[in-house]
Amino acid sequence: MGGAETVRVELGSRGYDILVGDGLLAQAGPLVKAATGGRAPIVVTDETVAGLHLATLERSLADAGIPTGPAIVLPAGEKTKDFAHLERLLDAILGRGIERSAALLALGGGVIGDITGFAAAVALRGIDFVQVPTTLLAQVDSSVGGKTGINTRQGKNLVGAFHQPKLVIADTAALDTLPRREVLAGYAEVVKYGLIRLPGFFDWLEENGARVVDGDGAARREAVTVSCRAKADIVGVDERESGDRALLNLGHTFGHALEAATGFGPRLLHGEAVSIGMVLAFELSVRLGLCPAADAARASTHLAAVGLPVRPTDVPGVDWDVDELVGHMAKDKKVRDGRITFILARRIGDAFTRRDVDSAVVRELLVEAVR
Ligand code: NAD
Ligand code: MG
Repeated sequence: MGGAETVRVELGSRGYDILVGDGLLAQAGPLVKAATGGRAPIVVTDETVAGLHLATLERSLADAGIPTGPAIVLPAGEKTKDFAHLERLLDAILGRGIERSAALLALGGGVIGDITGFAAAVALRGIDFVQVPTTLLAQVDSSVGGKTGINTRQGKNLVGAFHQPKLVIADTAALDTLPRREVLAGYAEVVKYGLIRLPGFFDWLEENGARVVDGDGAARREAVTVSCRAKADIVGVDERESGDRALLNLGHTFGHALEAATGFGPRLLHGEAVSIGMVLAFELSVRLGLCPAADAARASTHLAAVGLPVRPTDVPGVDWDVDELVGHMAKDKKVRDGRITFILARRIGDAFTRRDVDSAVVRELLVEAVR
């Protein structure tokens, strides 16, 4: 399989491999078969991905001697990550009379990965699952690390479980059908790893980011592999986010507030919000005297150069309300004892957490950012 890379997530008996390569969907059969102990998985996907990539995967599974039954096909989009679709999904899975040894396979973006992983976590108190992520965001982020779950009316990802997959297969060629805006949104999470702890990778992205976004196979494979290794390293030492895993939230506190204010809809994708949020986090670090202004400028310049929004005012047609943004930040899942945890940076590639940030400085920053 021409140049597939393997990244190991070291979690003892729950450890697993992430395979990254061009054309892996067509070669998934034997890999999945080994991961499921020879059983055909139940494939879960969404309508869009089913039309593009399901047949290739199914053929490969059948050729390996594990022909699957009909795939469970959910509607595409964030709205699918809810109780109603979880019930439908579990009903369909249990309706097939599965045993504890059954396995699910999630073929799709983060929505399919999260809801399928959660279904695997709770069906018969836990069955195996394999992730086959088909968005850049899912390949570099959501398919790795074992966070699964759904949204509720109170907010995003509020019901879920830690449940690690048995295997992750990231076919970078599957990204060729992904709309450019979705590629860019995933790319923001790629840049995040550089900004958190890989200054050399950030240098590389400055050189090669456009190739990653434009679809160069080798550049994509490198970006996905390095990103997965970065996340795997962090998850390997802090599976349940009691320490370093929080660094992965760089840009997410601001980003979450921006997403909440725009209704978690198509006006502002998660990765776009993270892009703006990371720039705000660097600017906050500069204001607090913790980071050179040149590093913040470099981060912002690169994100803007590939085509990501970097200021709230880059989002068309939104009238931002600072009080509302501050209100959303105070309700973030990561708030503890009323204090917001900020991920700040000393420089590019050196992020850290801070809980004693003066809220007046944050407000001032936002007031200037939205005008
Ligand atoms: P998504 O799953 O909705 O996919 C985005 C869109 O792309 C969908 O319309 C989908 O049908 C389409 N699509 C997927 N693959 C495609 C392909 N190859 N070609 C063409 N179209 C394709 O969204 P996403 O951005 O992948 O993931 C977002 C979700 O991930 C959110 O629910 C978020 O909460 C979750 N997430 C989870 C974690 C985690 O650790 N579990 C981390 C980050 C994000
Ligand atoms: Mg994210």
